Amino acid sequence: MYPESQLIEWRRELHTWPELSGQEFATTARLRGWLQAAGIRLRDYPLETGVVAEIGQGETVIALRADIDALPIHEASGVRFHSRHPGVMHACGHDLHSAVMLGAALQLQAQADTLPGRVRILFQPAEEIARGARQFIGAGVLDEVQAIFGMHNEPSLPLGTFATRSGAFYANADKFIIRVTGKGAHAAYPEQGVDSIVTASQIIQALQGLTSRSFNAFDSLVLSITRIDGGKSWNVLPGGVEFGGTARTHDLQVRADLEQRVRTLVEQFAAANGAQATLTWQPGPPVLINDPHWAGFCSDVARQAGYRVQTAELHLLGEDFAFYLQQVPGAFVSIGSASEFGLHHASFTPDEALIAPAAGYFAQLARQALQHLSARCQASLPL
Ligand SMILES: [Zn+2]
Ligand SMILES: [Zn+2]
Repeated sequence: MYPESQLIEWRRELHTWPELSGQEFATTARLRGWLQAAGIRLRDYPLETGVVAEIGQGETVIALRADIDALPIHEASGVRFHSRHPGVMHACGHDLHSAVMLGAALQLQAQADTLPGRVRILFQPAEEIARGARQFIGAGVLDEVQAIFGMHNEPSLPLGTFATRSGAFYANADKFIIRVTGKGAHAAYPEQGVDSIVTASQIIQALQGLTSRSFNAFDSLVLSITRIDGGKSWNVLPGGVEFGGTARTHDLQVRADLEQRVRTLVEQFAAANGAQATLTWQPGPPVLINDPHWAGFCSDVARQAGYRVQTAELHLLGEDFAFYLQQVPGAFVSIGSASEFGLHHASFTPDEALIAPAAGYFAQLARQALQHLSARCQASLPL
């Protein structure tokens, strides 16, 4: 067995040297080095960053996933092992997730001879920009994988608490940009132009009415405008305004309907004012949908491991693990990290004490999932 202090040391090293999404070169080198030193075999894929390890033998394959990227935030947590890269911080706890899956890998390696199949461990880059999972899937990391599991630390939950849910969990997290083109004019003679600022403000008001009046109260849905850019002067009406924000939903049909309704509203409000407007909708990660069977399985193993198990609330955040769950069944879970400050906060300080128990949990989950799949395969039961 390895000591808990080893996992904490690795986590702190990752924390001290965070790297932005897609630039996790040193992180990749560290992870490779630690895994190889433990005698764990690495799989080769055409990937610039990220690591894929595999333990065990046999036909049955399950995957565990950690994310490894950091955020463009200047750390203010005050911890001794704070970021030495100014303006970059592990403020989402992906350093903890990596340490958890390293610990699970070491435990599984110690029992590799008796594992009833293979456990593939994905150390995935670029989660924060919703690119890494798609890169990994494109590279083939899910080939042969029959079930996949992953975690996020949850600052609002106490240590020792575990939560997940069946079905929709994290949101469709989309971005949109609206460009209104009017006609510039002297502010004293607005009738000589087409006022893009008034048009934009009408659209913004109407969008809030759209979300509250045109969808069912149980269609969880949030639309926020987060920036407006238009005009440079006190006495000139600008020729155009650009604004944008994010829309969060938990159903693919609601998402499609919302995009269509926003597009129609934007175009028709602009037309009514004699202006033109375009909507650019950039889909983020899709709704994360946990398989009910595997969500229940994960909770059962968590109870055995001594966690207090809860049903998780719906998240309005996005999580690119959703892309894996579109390909293979599995479940994503939350583990309490008891931080006073939340995810993506410069003072985020998750409790490291979650790492060792979570590592043990994922090793146990992997073994039991393999046993379950092997038994089901032998009995020819439907998946
Ligand atoms: Zn994040
Ligand atoms: Zn995260």
